[in-house]
Amino acid sequence: MLAGVNPKKESIVYSANCLCGGVRFQILCELEPIQVCHCSQCRKAQGGAFATNTPVKESAFQLDSGAELLRSFEASAGKQRVFCSECGSPIYSKTNAVPGVLRIRAGLINEPVSVRLAAHCYTGSKASWWSINDNLPQFEGAYAPRKTKA
Ligand SMILES: [Zn+2]
Ligand SMILES: [Zn+2]
Repeated sequence: MLAGVNPKKESIVYSANCLCGGVRFQILCELEPIQVCHCSQCRKAQGGAFATNTPVKESAFQLDSGAELLRSFEASAGKQRVFCSECGSPIYSKTNAVPGVLRIRAGLINEPVSVRLAAHCYTGSKASWWSINDNLPQFEGAYAPRKTKA
């Protein structure tokens, strides 16, 4: 072994930014499959039919600029929705229920990603005008992935 050489040479880094470019960050890990959230809060926060979120460990989130632009809104107790105060782009959400994890808004990522969608969640509050036309798992409430066997 070569001393001082990081064995993970091909480190995975994604870059991302908000619409105005003031908030820039990197994700220093491979992404988890993206969750499509149809809950009413996500719909309103995005102004769209759903949000596309990927959970990233806080330790893999590197904010490069725009800390002063970040504001957060607590739509439900214990859950912060963080956005850019300049352009309004949603950046991530963070809940006390899952400490240390940021749910990054995947649309901010600049590079093509290898992961695909995981599932639709909160389909119980889906926009009436949106049809789900894929075969992904659907959850009426929160995303609850099946535990894989050990
Ligand atoms: Zn911005
Ligand atoms: Zn949601």
